[in-house]
Amino acid sequence: MLAPTAKIIDGKAVSAKIRAKCKERVADLKRRGVVPGLAVILVGSDPASALYVRNKMRACADVGIKSLRYDFPSDVSADDVLATINDLNANQDIHGILVQLPLPPQIATAKVLRAISAEKDVDGFHLYNVGGLVVGDTVFPPCTPYGVVKLLEHEQIPVEGRNVVVVGASNIVGKPMALMLMQQDATVCICHAKTRDLAQFTILADILVVAAGRPNLILPQMVKTGAAVIDVGINRLADGRLVGDVDFEGVRQKASYITPVPGGVGPMTVTMLLVNTIASAERHPDRSLV
Ligand code: NAD
Repeated sequence: MLAPTAKIIDGKAVSAKIRAKCKERVADLKRRGVVPGLAVILVGSDPASALYVRNKMRACADVGIKSLRYDFPSDVSADDVLATINDLNANQDIHGILVQLPLPPQIATAKVLRAISAEKDVDGFHLYNVGGLVVGDTVFPPCTPYGVVKLLEHEQIPVEGRNVVVVGASNIVGKPMALMLMQQDATVCICHAKTRDLAQFTILADILVVAAGRPNLILPQMVKTGAAVIDVGINRLADGRLVGDVDFEGVRQKASYITPVPGGVGPMTVTMLLVNTIASAERHPDRSLV
């Protein structure tokens, strides 16, 4: 058996460094009389969504961001949610608005996301922000791919001119990820569930980003020797274990860098939400909770 060679990217440690900087930036804002404010909208009682919201609000409190939670029952009308978003758009104390997804079926997600002011869209899902990704002038980069970019930067993994393969083409991870790395002059290929013979693409990747939500999708024989492998996937197995989309033990023997699950990309996502909220407060210090 080959010895493990990949450097394991410690997302928790990178995240802790960025959060320490967040605290300093919030302290600076507070010295200028500005308290960054994030509004979090949660519809329904899905335990996973409630847990994500709690984690985001706890992370806000840790760095000094004030977060306000707006809870709605699962049968709420779209109009009620939209009315709250309109109020928050006009509220000078709020710098960021986040709607926890998924929303119940009676509410059109696209319409809700479009109602959030692009200037407060700290999740980066508004059409304006998506368009910004395409032309390389994003207001708020979406948090998960932004976290991946920061991990690559932290590890000084070059992107320019490299072959990047993104497995997964969702609006929240795969597509923005591909656009962000293309913006850094990578040669990018996106694969998805209909891709035929996934391995013929993944084997070409210098940087392989996997966000499919399929345990063990990426096996060692699908990975180029020396590749950097970023596993965004989060899957709960029947035995309760949390794993990514990559065969971690196998692939770490072939890759040069690899992210673990948990403890890789996951901690970065919430951290980048903090970064986006602080950036919004810095751009618009007139919106403040003091
Ligand atoms: P999604 O279900 O919206 O999209 C999955 C994508 O993967 C789709 O484009 C689909 O075509 C593709 N796919 C599915 N099976 C495939 C296969 N066999 N081969 C190739 N492509 C395949 O999911 P999402 O919201 O983008 O999330 C993807 C994964 O990332 C999930 O496991 C999710 O839990 C995780 N996630 C993690 C974070 C984090 O903070 N670490 C954040 C968001 C999502």
